[in-house]
Amino acid sequence: MARAGRRPDHAAGPRDPSALRRGITHGSAGGALEARRSLAGNCLVALAFFLIAAGAQAQIVSTRIWPAKEYTRVTLESKAEIKFTLFAVKNPERLVLDLEGVELGPALAELDGKVATGDPYIDKLRVGRNRPGVVRLVLDLKAEVKPQVFALKPIAEYGHRLVLDIYPVVPPDPLAALIEADGKAPKRDDRAEKEAAPPPPDKPKVARMATIVIDAGHGGEDPGARGRHGSREKDVTLTIAKRLKLLVDAEPEMRAVLTRDADFYVPLQTRVDKARRVKADLFVSVHADAFIKANARGSSVFALSERRATSEAARWLAKKENEADLIGGVNIDVKDRYLAQTLLDLSQTATIDHSLRLGNAVLGEIGQVNTLHKAQVEQASFAVLKSPDVPSILVETAFISNPEEEKRLNDDAYQDQLARAILAGIKHYLAKNPPRPQLPLALTN
Ligand SMILES: [Zn+2]
Repeated sequence: MARAGRRPDHAAGPRDPSALRRGITHGSAGGALEARRSLAGNCLVALAFFLIAAGAQAQIVSTRIWPAKEYTRVTLESKAEIKFTLFAVKNPERLVLDLEGVELGPALAELDGKVATGDPYIDKLRVGRNRPGVVRLVLDLKAEVKPQVFALKPIAEYGHRLVLDIYPVVPPDPLAALIEADGKAPKRDDRAEKEAAPPPPDKPKVARMATIVIDAGHGGEDPGARGRHGSREKDVTLTIAKRLKLLVDAEPEMRAVLTRDADFYVPLQTRVDKARRVKADLFVSVHADAFIKANARGSSVFALSERRATSEAARWLAKKENEADLIGGVNIDVKDRYLAQTLLDLSQTATIDHSLRLGNAVLGEIGQVNTLHKAQVEQASFAVLKSPDVPSILVETAFISNPEEEKRLNDDAYQDQLARAILAGIKHYLAKNPPRPQLPLALTN
C-alpha cells in the first residue's frame, strides 16, 4: 500500500510513546549524578505515562456521518483526544485513517453501516484492527477528494471529536449552479436589454432579478436549540427555509439560494461567503429561539449591531448563536478571513441601515401571524449578519423552548404562514428599494 499522503504534523506529538522511549534511552547515557537522578525521575514519570497510555485504550463512544453535496463529514467522538494519521491511496481512490490507542468498540464497528447509498463521496467504509493498538478506517471513494481532518474540543453535549471532512477536488461554484438550476436567470444580454428599455408606467423599475439568500440556521453536528418535545431547531429552520425558497422562486422577479439544503453544518463565515459569491441582494437567516423560561414567546427580527446589543437578551442570544461554529465544528486553519476591516468600514453602516429597513418590513408582516417578542428590530453582533454589502437579517421565528410555540413550529400551516410573512416583508422592502445595479464592491470575490 503506497502512502500518497503526508502524515499531518500534529499526528506525531510529544505523546508519541516511541519518542518518549527514545528520550529515555538517550537521557540515561548522560553524565552528572544530579542530572542522572532527575533524569531517572523523568524516566519514571515518562514510563508510567507510557504504561497508562498503552494500557488504557481510548473508547470511541459515538460515530456519525453527515453526507451532503458540498462535503461529507465523518465524526468520531471519544472521551479523550485521539491520535491519528490520515493518508490517501490511489487506484482505486481510498482514504486511510489510523487511530492510535483506540479500542475497536461497538460505536466504531457500526460505522460502515452508516454510509448512505447516496453519499456523493464515500462508496464503502471498512474498520478493522491494523496492528497492536491501531484501528484502521479505510474509506473507498467514488472519486478523488480533498480531505481535511481536525480535532474539536469538548463543548455542549459533545466530548472530544475527530472530524474528517471529505470535499470534492473542484468545489461546486454556487454562482454557476444558480444560473444552471434557475431557468429564470436572465442572460447578460437580456439583462442589458431589460435595463435599457423604459420602465412600464406606474410600476417601480426593477433593474434585474433580486437574489435572496435564505440561511437555515445550524445543521449537522449543531442541532441548535431543542424543544421540550424533542424538536430540533436545525430541522425546523430547514423546513421553513425550504418553504420560503419555493415561495421566493415563484415570484417573477426573485430567486432564492439556500446556504444549506440538507442536514449538514455550514460554518458561519461560509454562510456569509455564499451570499457574497452569488451576489445576494438580501440575506435572511432563519432560527427558532430558546430561553431558560419556558413561557418566553414570540418572534423577533435582528440586524447587525456594530457596537452594542440593543438589549441584554439580544447580546445573550448573539453569543449563543455565534457559538454554532464551536459546536458544528470548523477547521480553524482554513477559515476564510477575507473580510478586511477597510471593506467593512466602507459599507457596513449603509448596509445596516438597509438591514433595519428590511427587518422592519419583515417584523410588520410576522406580527400578523405571531405575537412579537419585541416590537422593534433588535441589533446584536451576529457573525452570520456580517456581510459588508448585503442587507442581512436574522429571524427568530418563535421560541422552540415554549411547548406551545414548539407545536406551532412543527405545524405545516403555521410554517407556511411564517414563510409567507417573511416573503411579504421582503417584497415590501424591495418595492421601496429595488435591486440596484451591482456595485463593483459586490462583484469582488
Ligand atoms: Zn439559532
